[in-house]
Amino acid sequence: MVHDRMPTEPAFAGIPTFLKLPYVQTLEALQAETPDAVVLGAPIDMGTTNRPGARFGPRAIRAASNLGRSIRHLGLEVEPLRVLRVFDYGDASVLPQDLQRSHEAVRAKVEEVVRLGAVPLVLGGDHSITLPSAQAVAAVLGQGNVGVVHFDAHADTASDDWGSPISHGTPMRRLIESGAVRGSNFVQVGLRGYWPPADVFDWMGEQGMRWHTMYEIDERGFDAVLDTAIAEALEGPSAVYLSVDVDVLDPAYAPATGTPEPGGLTARELLRAVRKVALATHLVGLDIVEVAPPYDGPGAITAEVAHRVVLEVLSALAVKKLARSEA
Ligand code: MN
Ligand code: MN
Repeated sequence: MVHDRMPTEPAFAGIPTFLKLPYVQTLEALQAETPDAVVLGAPIDMGTTNRPGARFGPRAIRAASNLGRSIRHLGLEVEPLRVLRVFDYGDASVLPQDLQRSHEAVRAKVEEVVRLGAVPLVLGGDHSITLPSAQAVAAVLGQGNVGVVHFDAHADTASDDWGSPISHGTPMRRLIESGAVRGSNFVQVGLRGYWPPADVFDWMGEQGMRWHTMYEIDERGFDAVLDTAIAEALEGPSAVYLSVDVDVLDPAYAPATGTPEPGGLTARELLRAVRKVALATHLVGLDIVEVAPPYDGPGAITAEVAHRVVLEVLSALAVKKLARSEA
């Protein structure tokens, strides 16, 4: 099984699509490629409360590709681009200063990908984009049929953010209220710090949401917590949408983000966790959000780790496709 559309030039040459994969501009062309997974950008930061800049996230994550055409995951022993048909579908047609219509553009583009039977890999953007993205997945696969595993320092379940119902502080609440995801299958990992207040946790409890703090990870160990989280997301649904807010990482590993919170995961822990979720579940969507490149150091380490989050998922998807074809 060889992907005939593998990258043909080094990462540093030419136009920086994700991993130098072919840029597909239209739905018709994408359909003709019969993709397994599709990278697309949601360059939006109008939902940000604190530091803006995540609108530049997709561009920075694409530019962080520094690998050649023959990439092989040393842990999973798989060459994802030889196994999977992966394409870069560009960015949603966002409109500066119009968060709602920008969300509609994200929703439409993600839905196109899911209807083709491919896995959308969405580069944010602030975390508000998970609302249209996960809703699009649920619109195709069925309301309540998909569980969510959400890595974040923050719960993002406020009733409003400074009076706004749609922001990066509220998407998980709106997702549950809309019926797209059941509260009991919405599982959060990595919460810490000083937000949200107790009444928001009360609401989360009423929805049957489950959350696992960094303090629990310290006490029980990450593997045990992850096993619990995966099982909770799949109590009913057979598929999982994975949402990764890069601020789940300690700011030492991801300084370029809107709302950094010290005391988080290491890059090694996050990549392993993403791999584990992607291998253990039927993964039907990913977003990696809150990369705000203006705050990155010269090594662009936040964009680098966000890029590798996507690669972990691609590698896991490749392992599972190989297993299916051998079965
Ligand atoms: Mn978030
Ligand atoms: Mn966060």
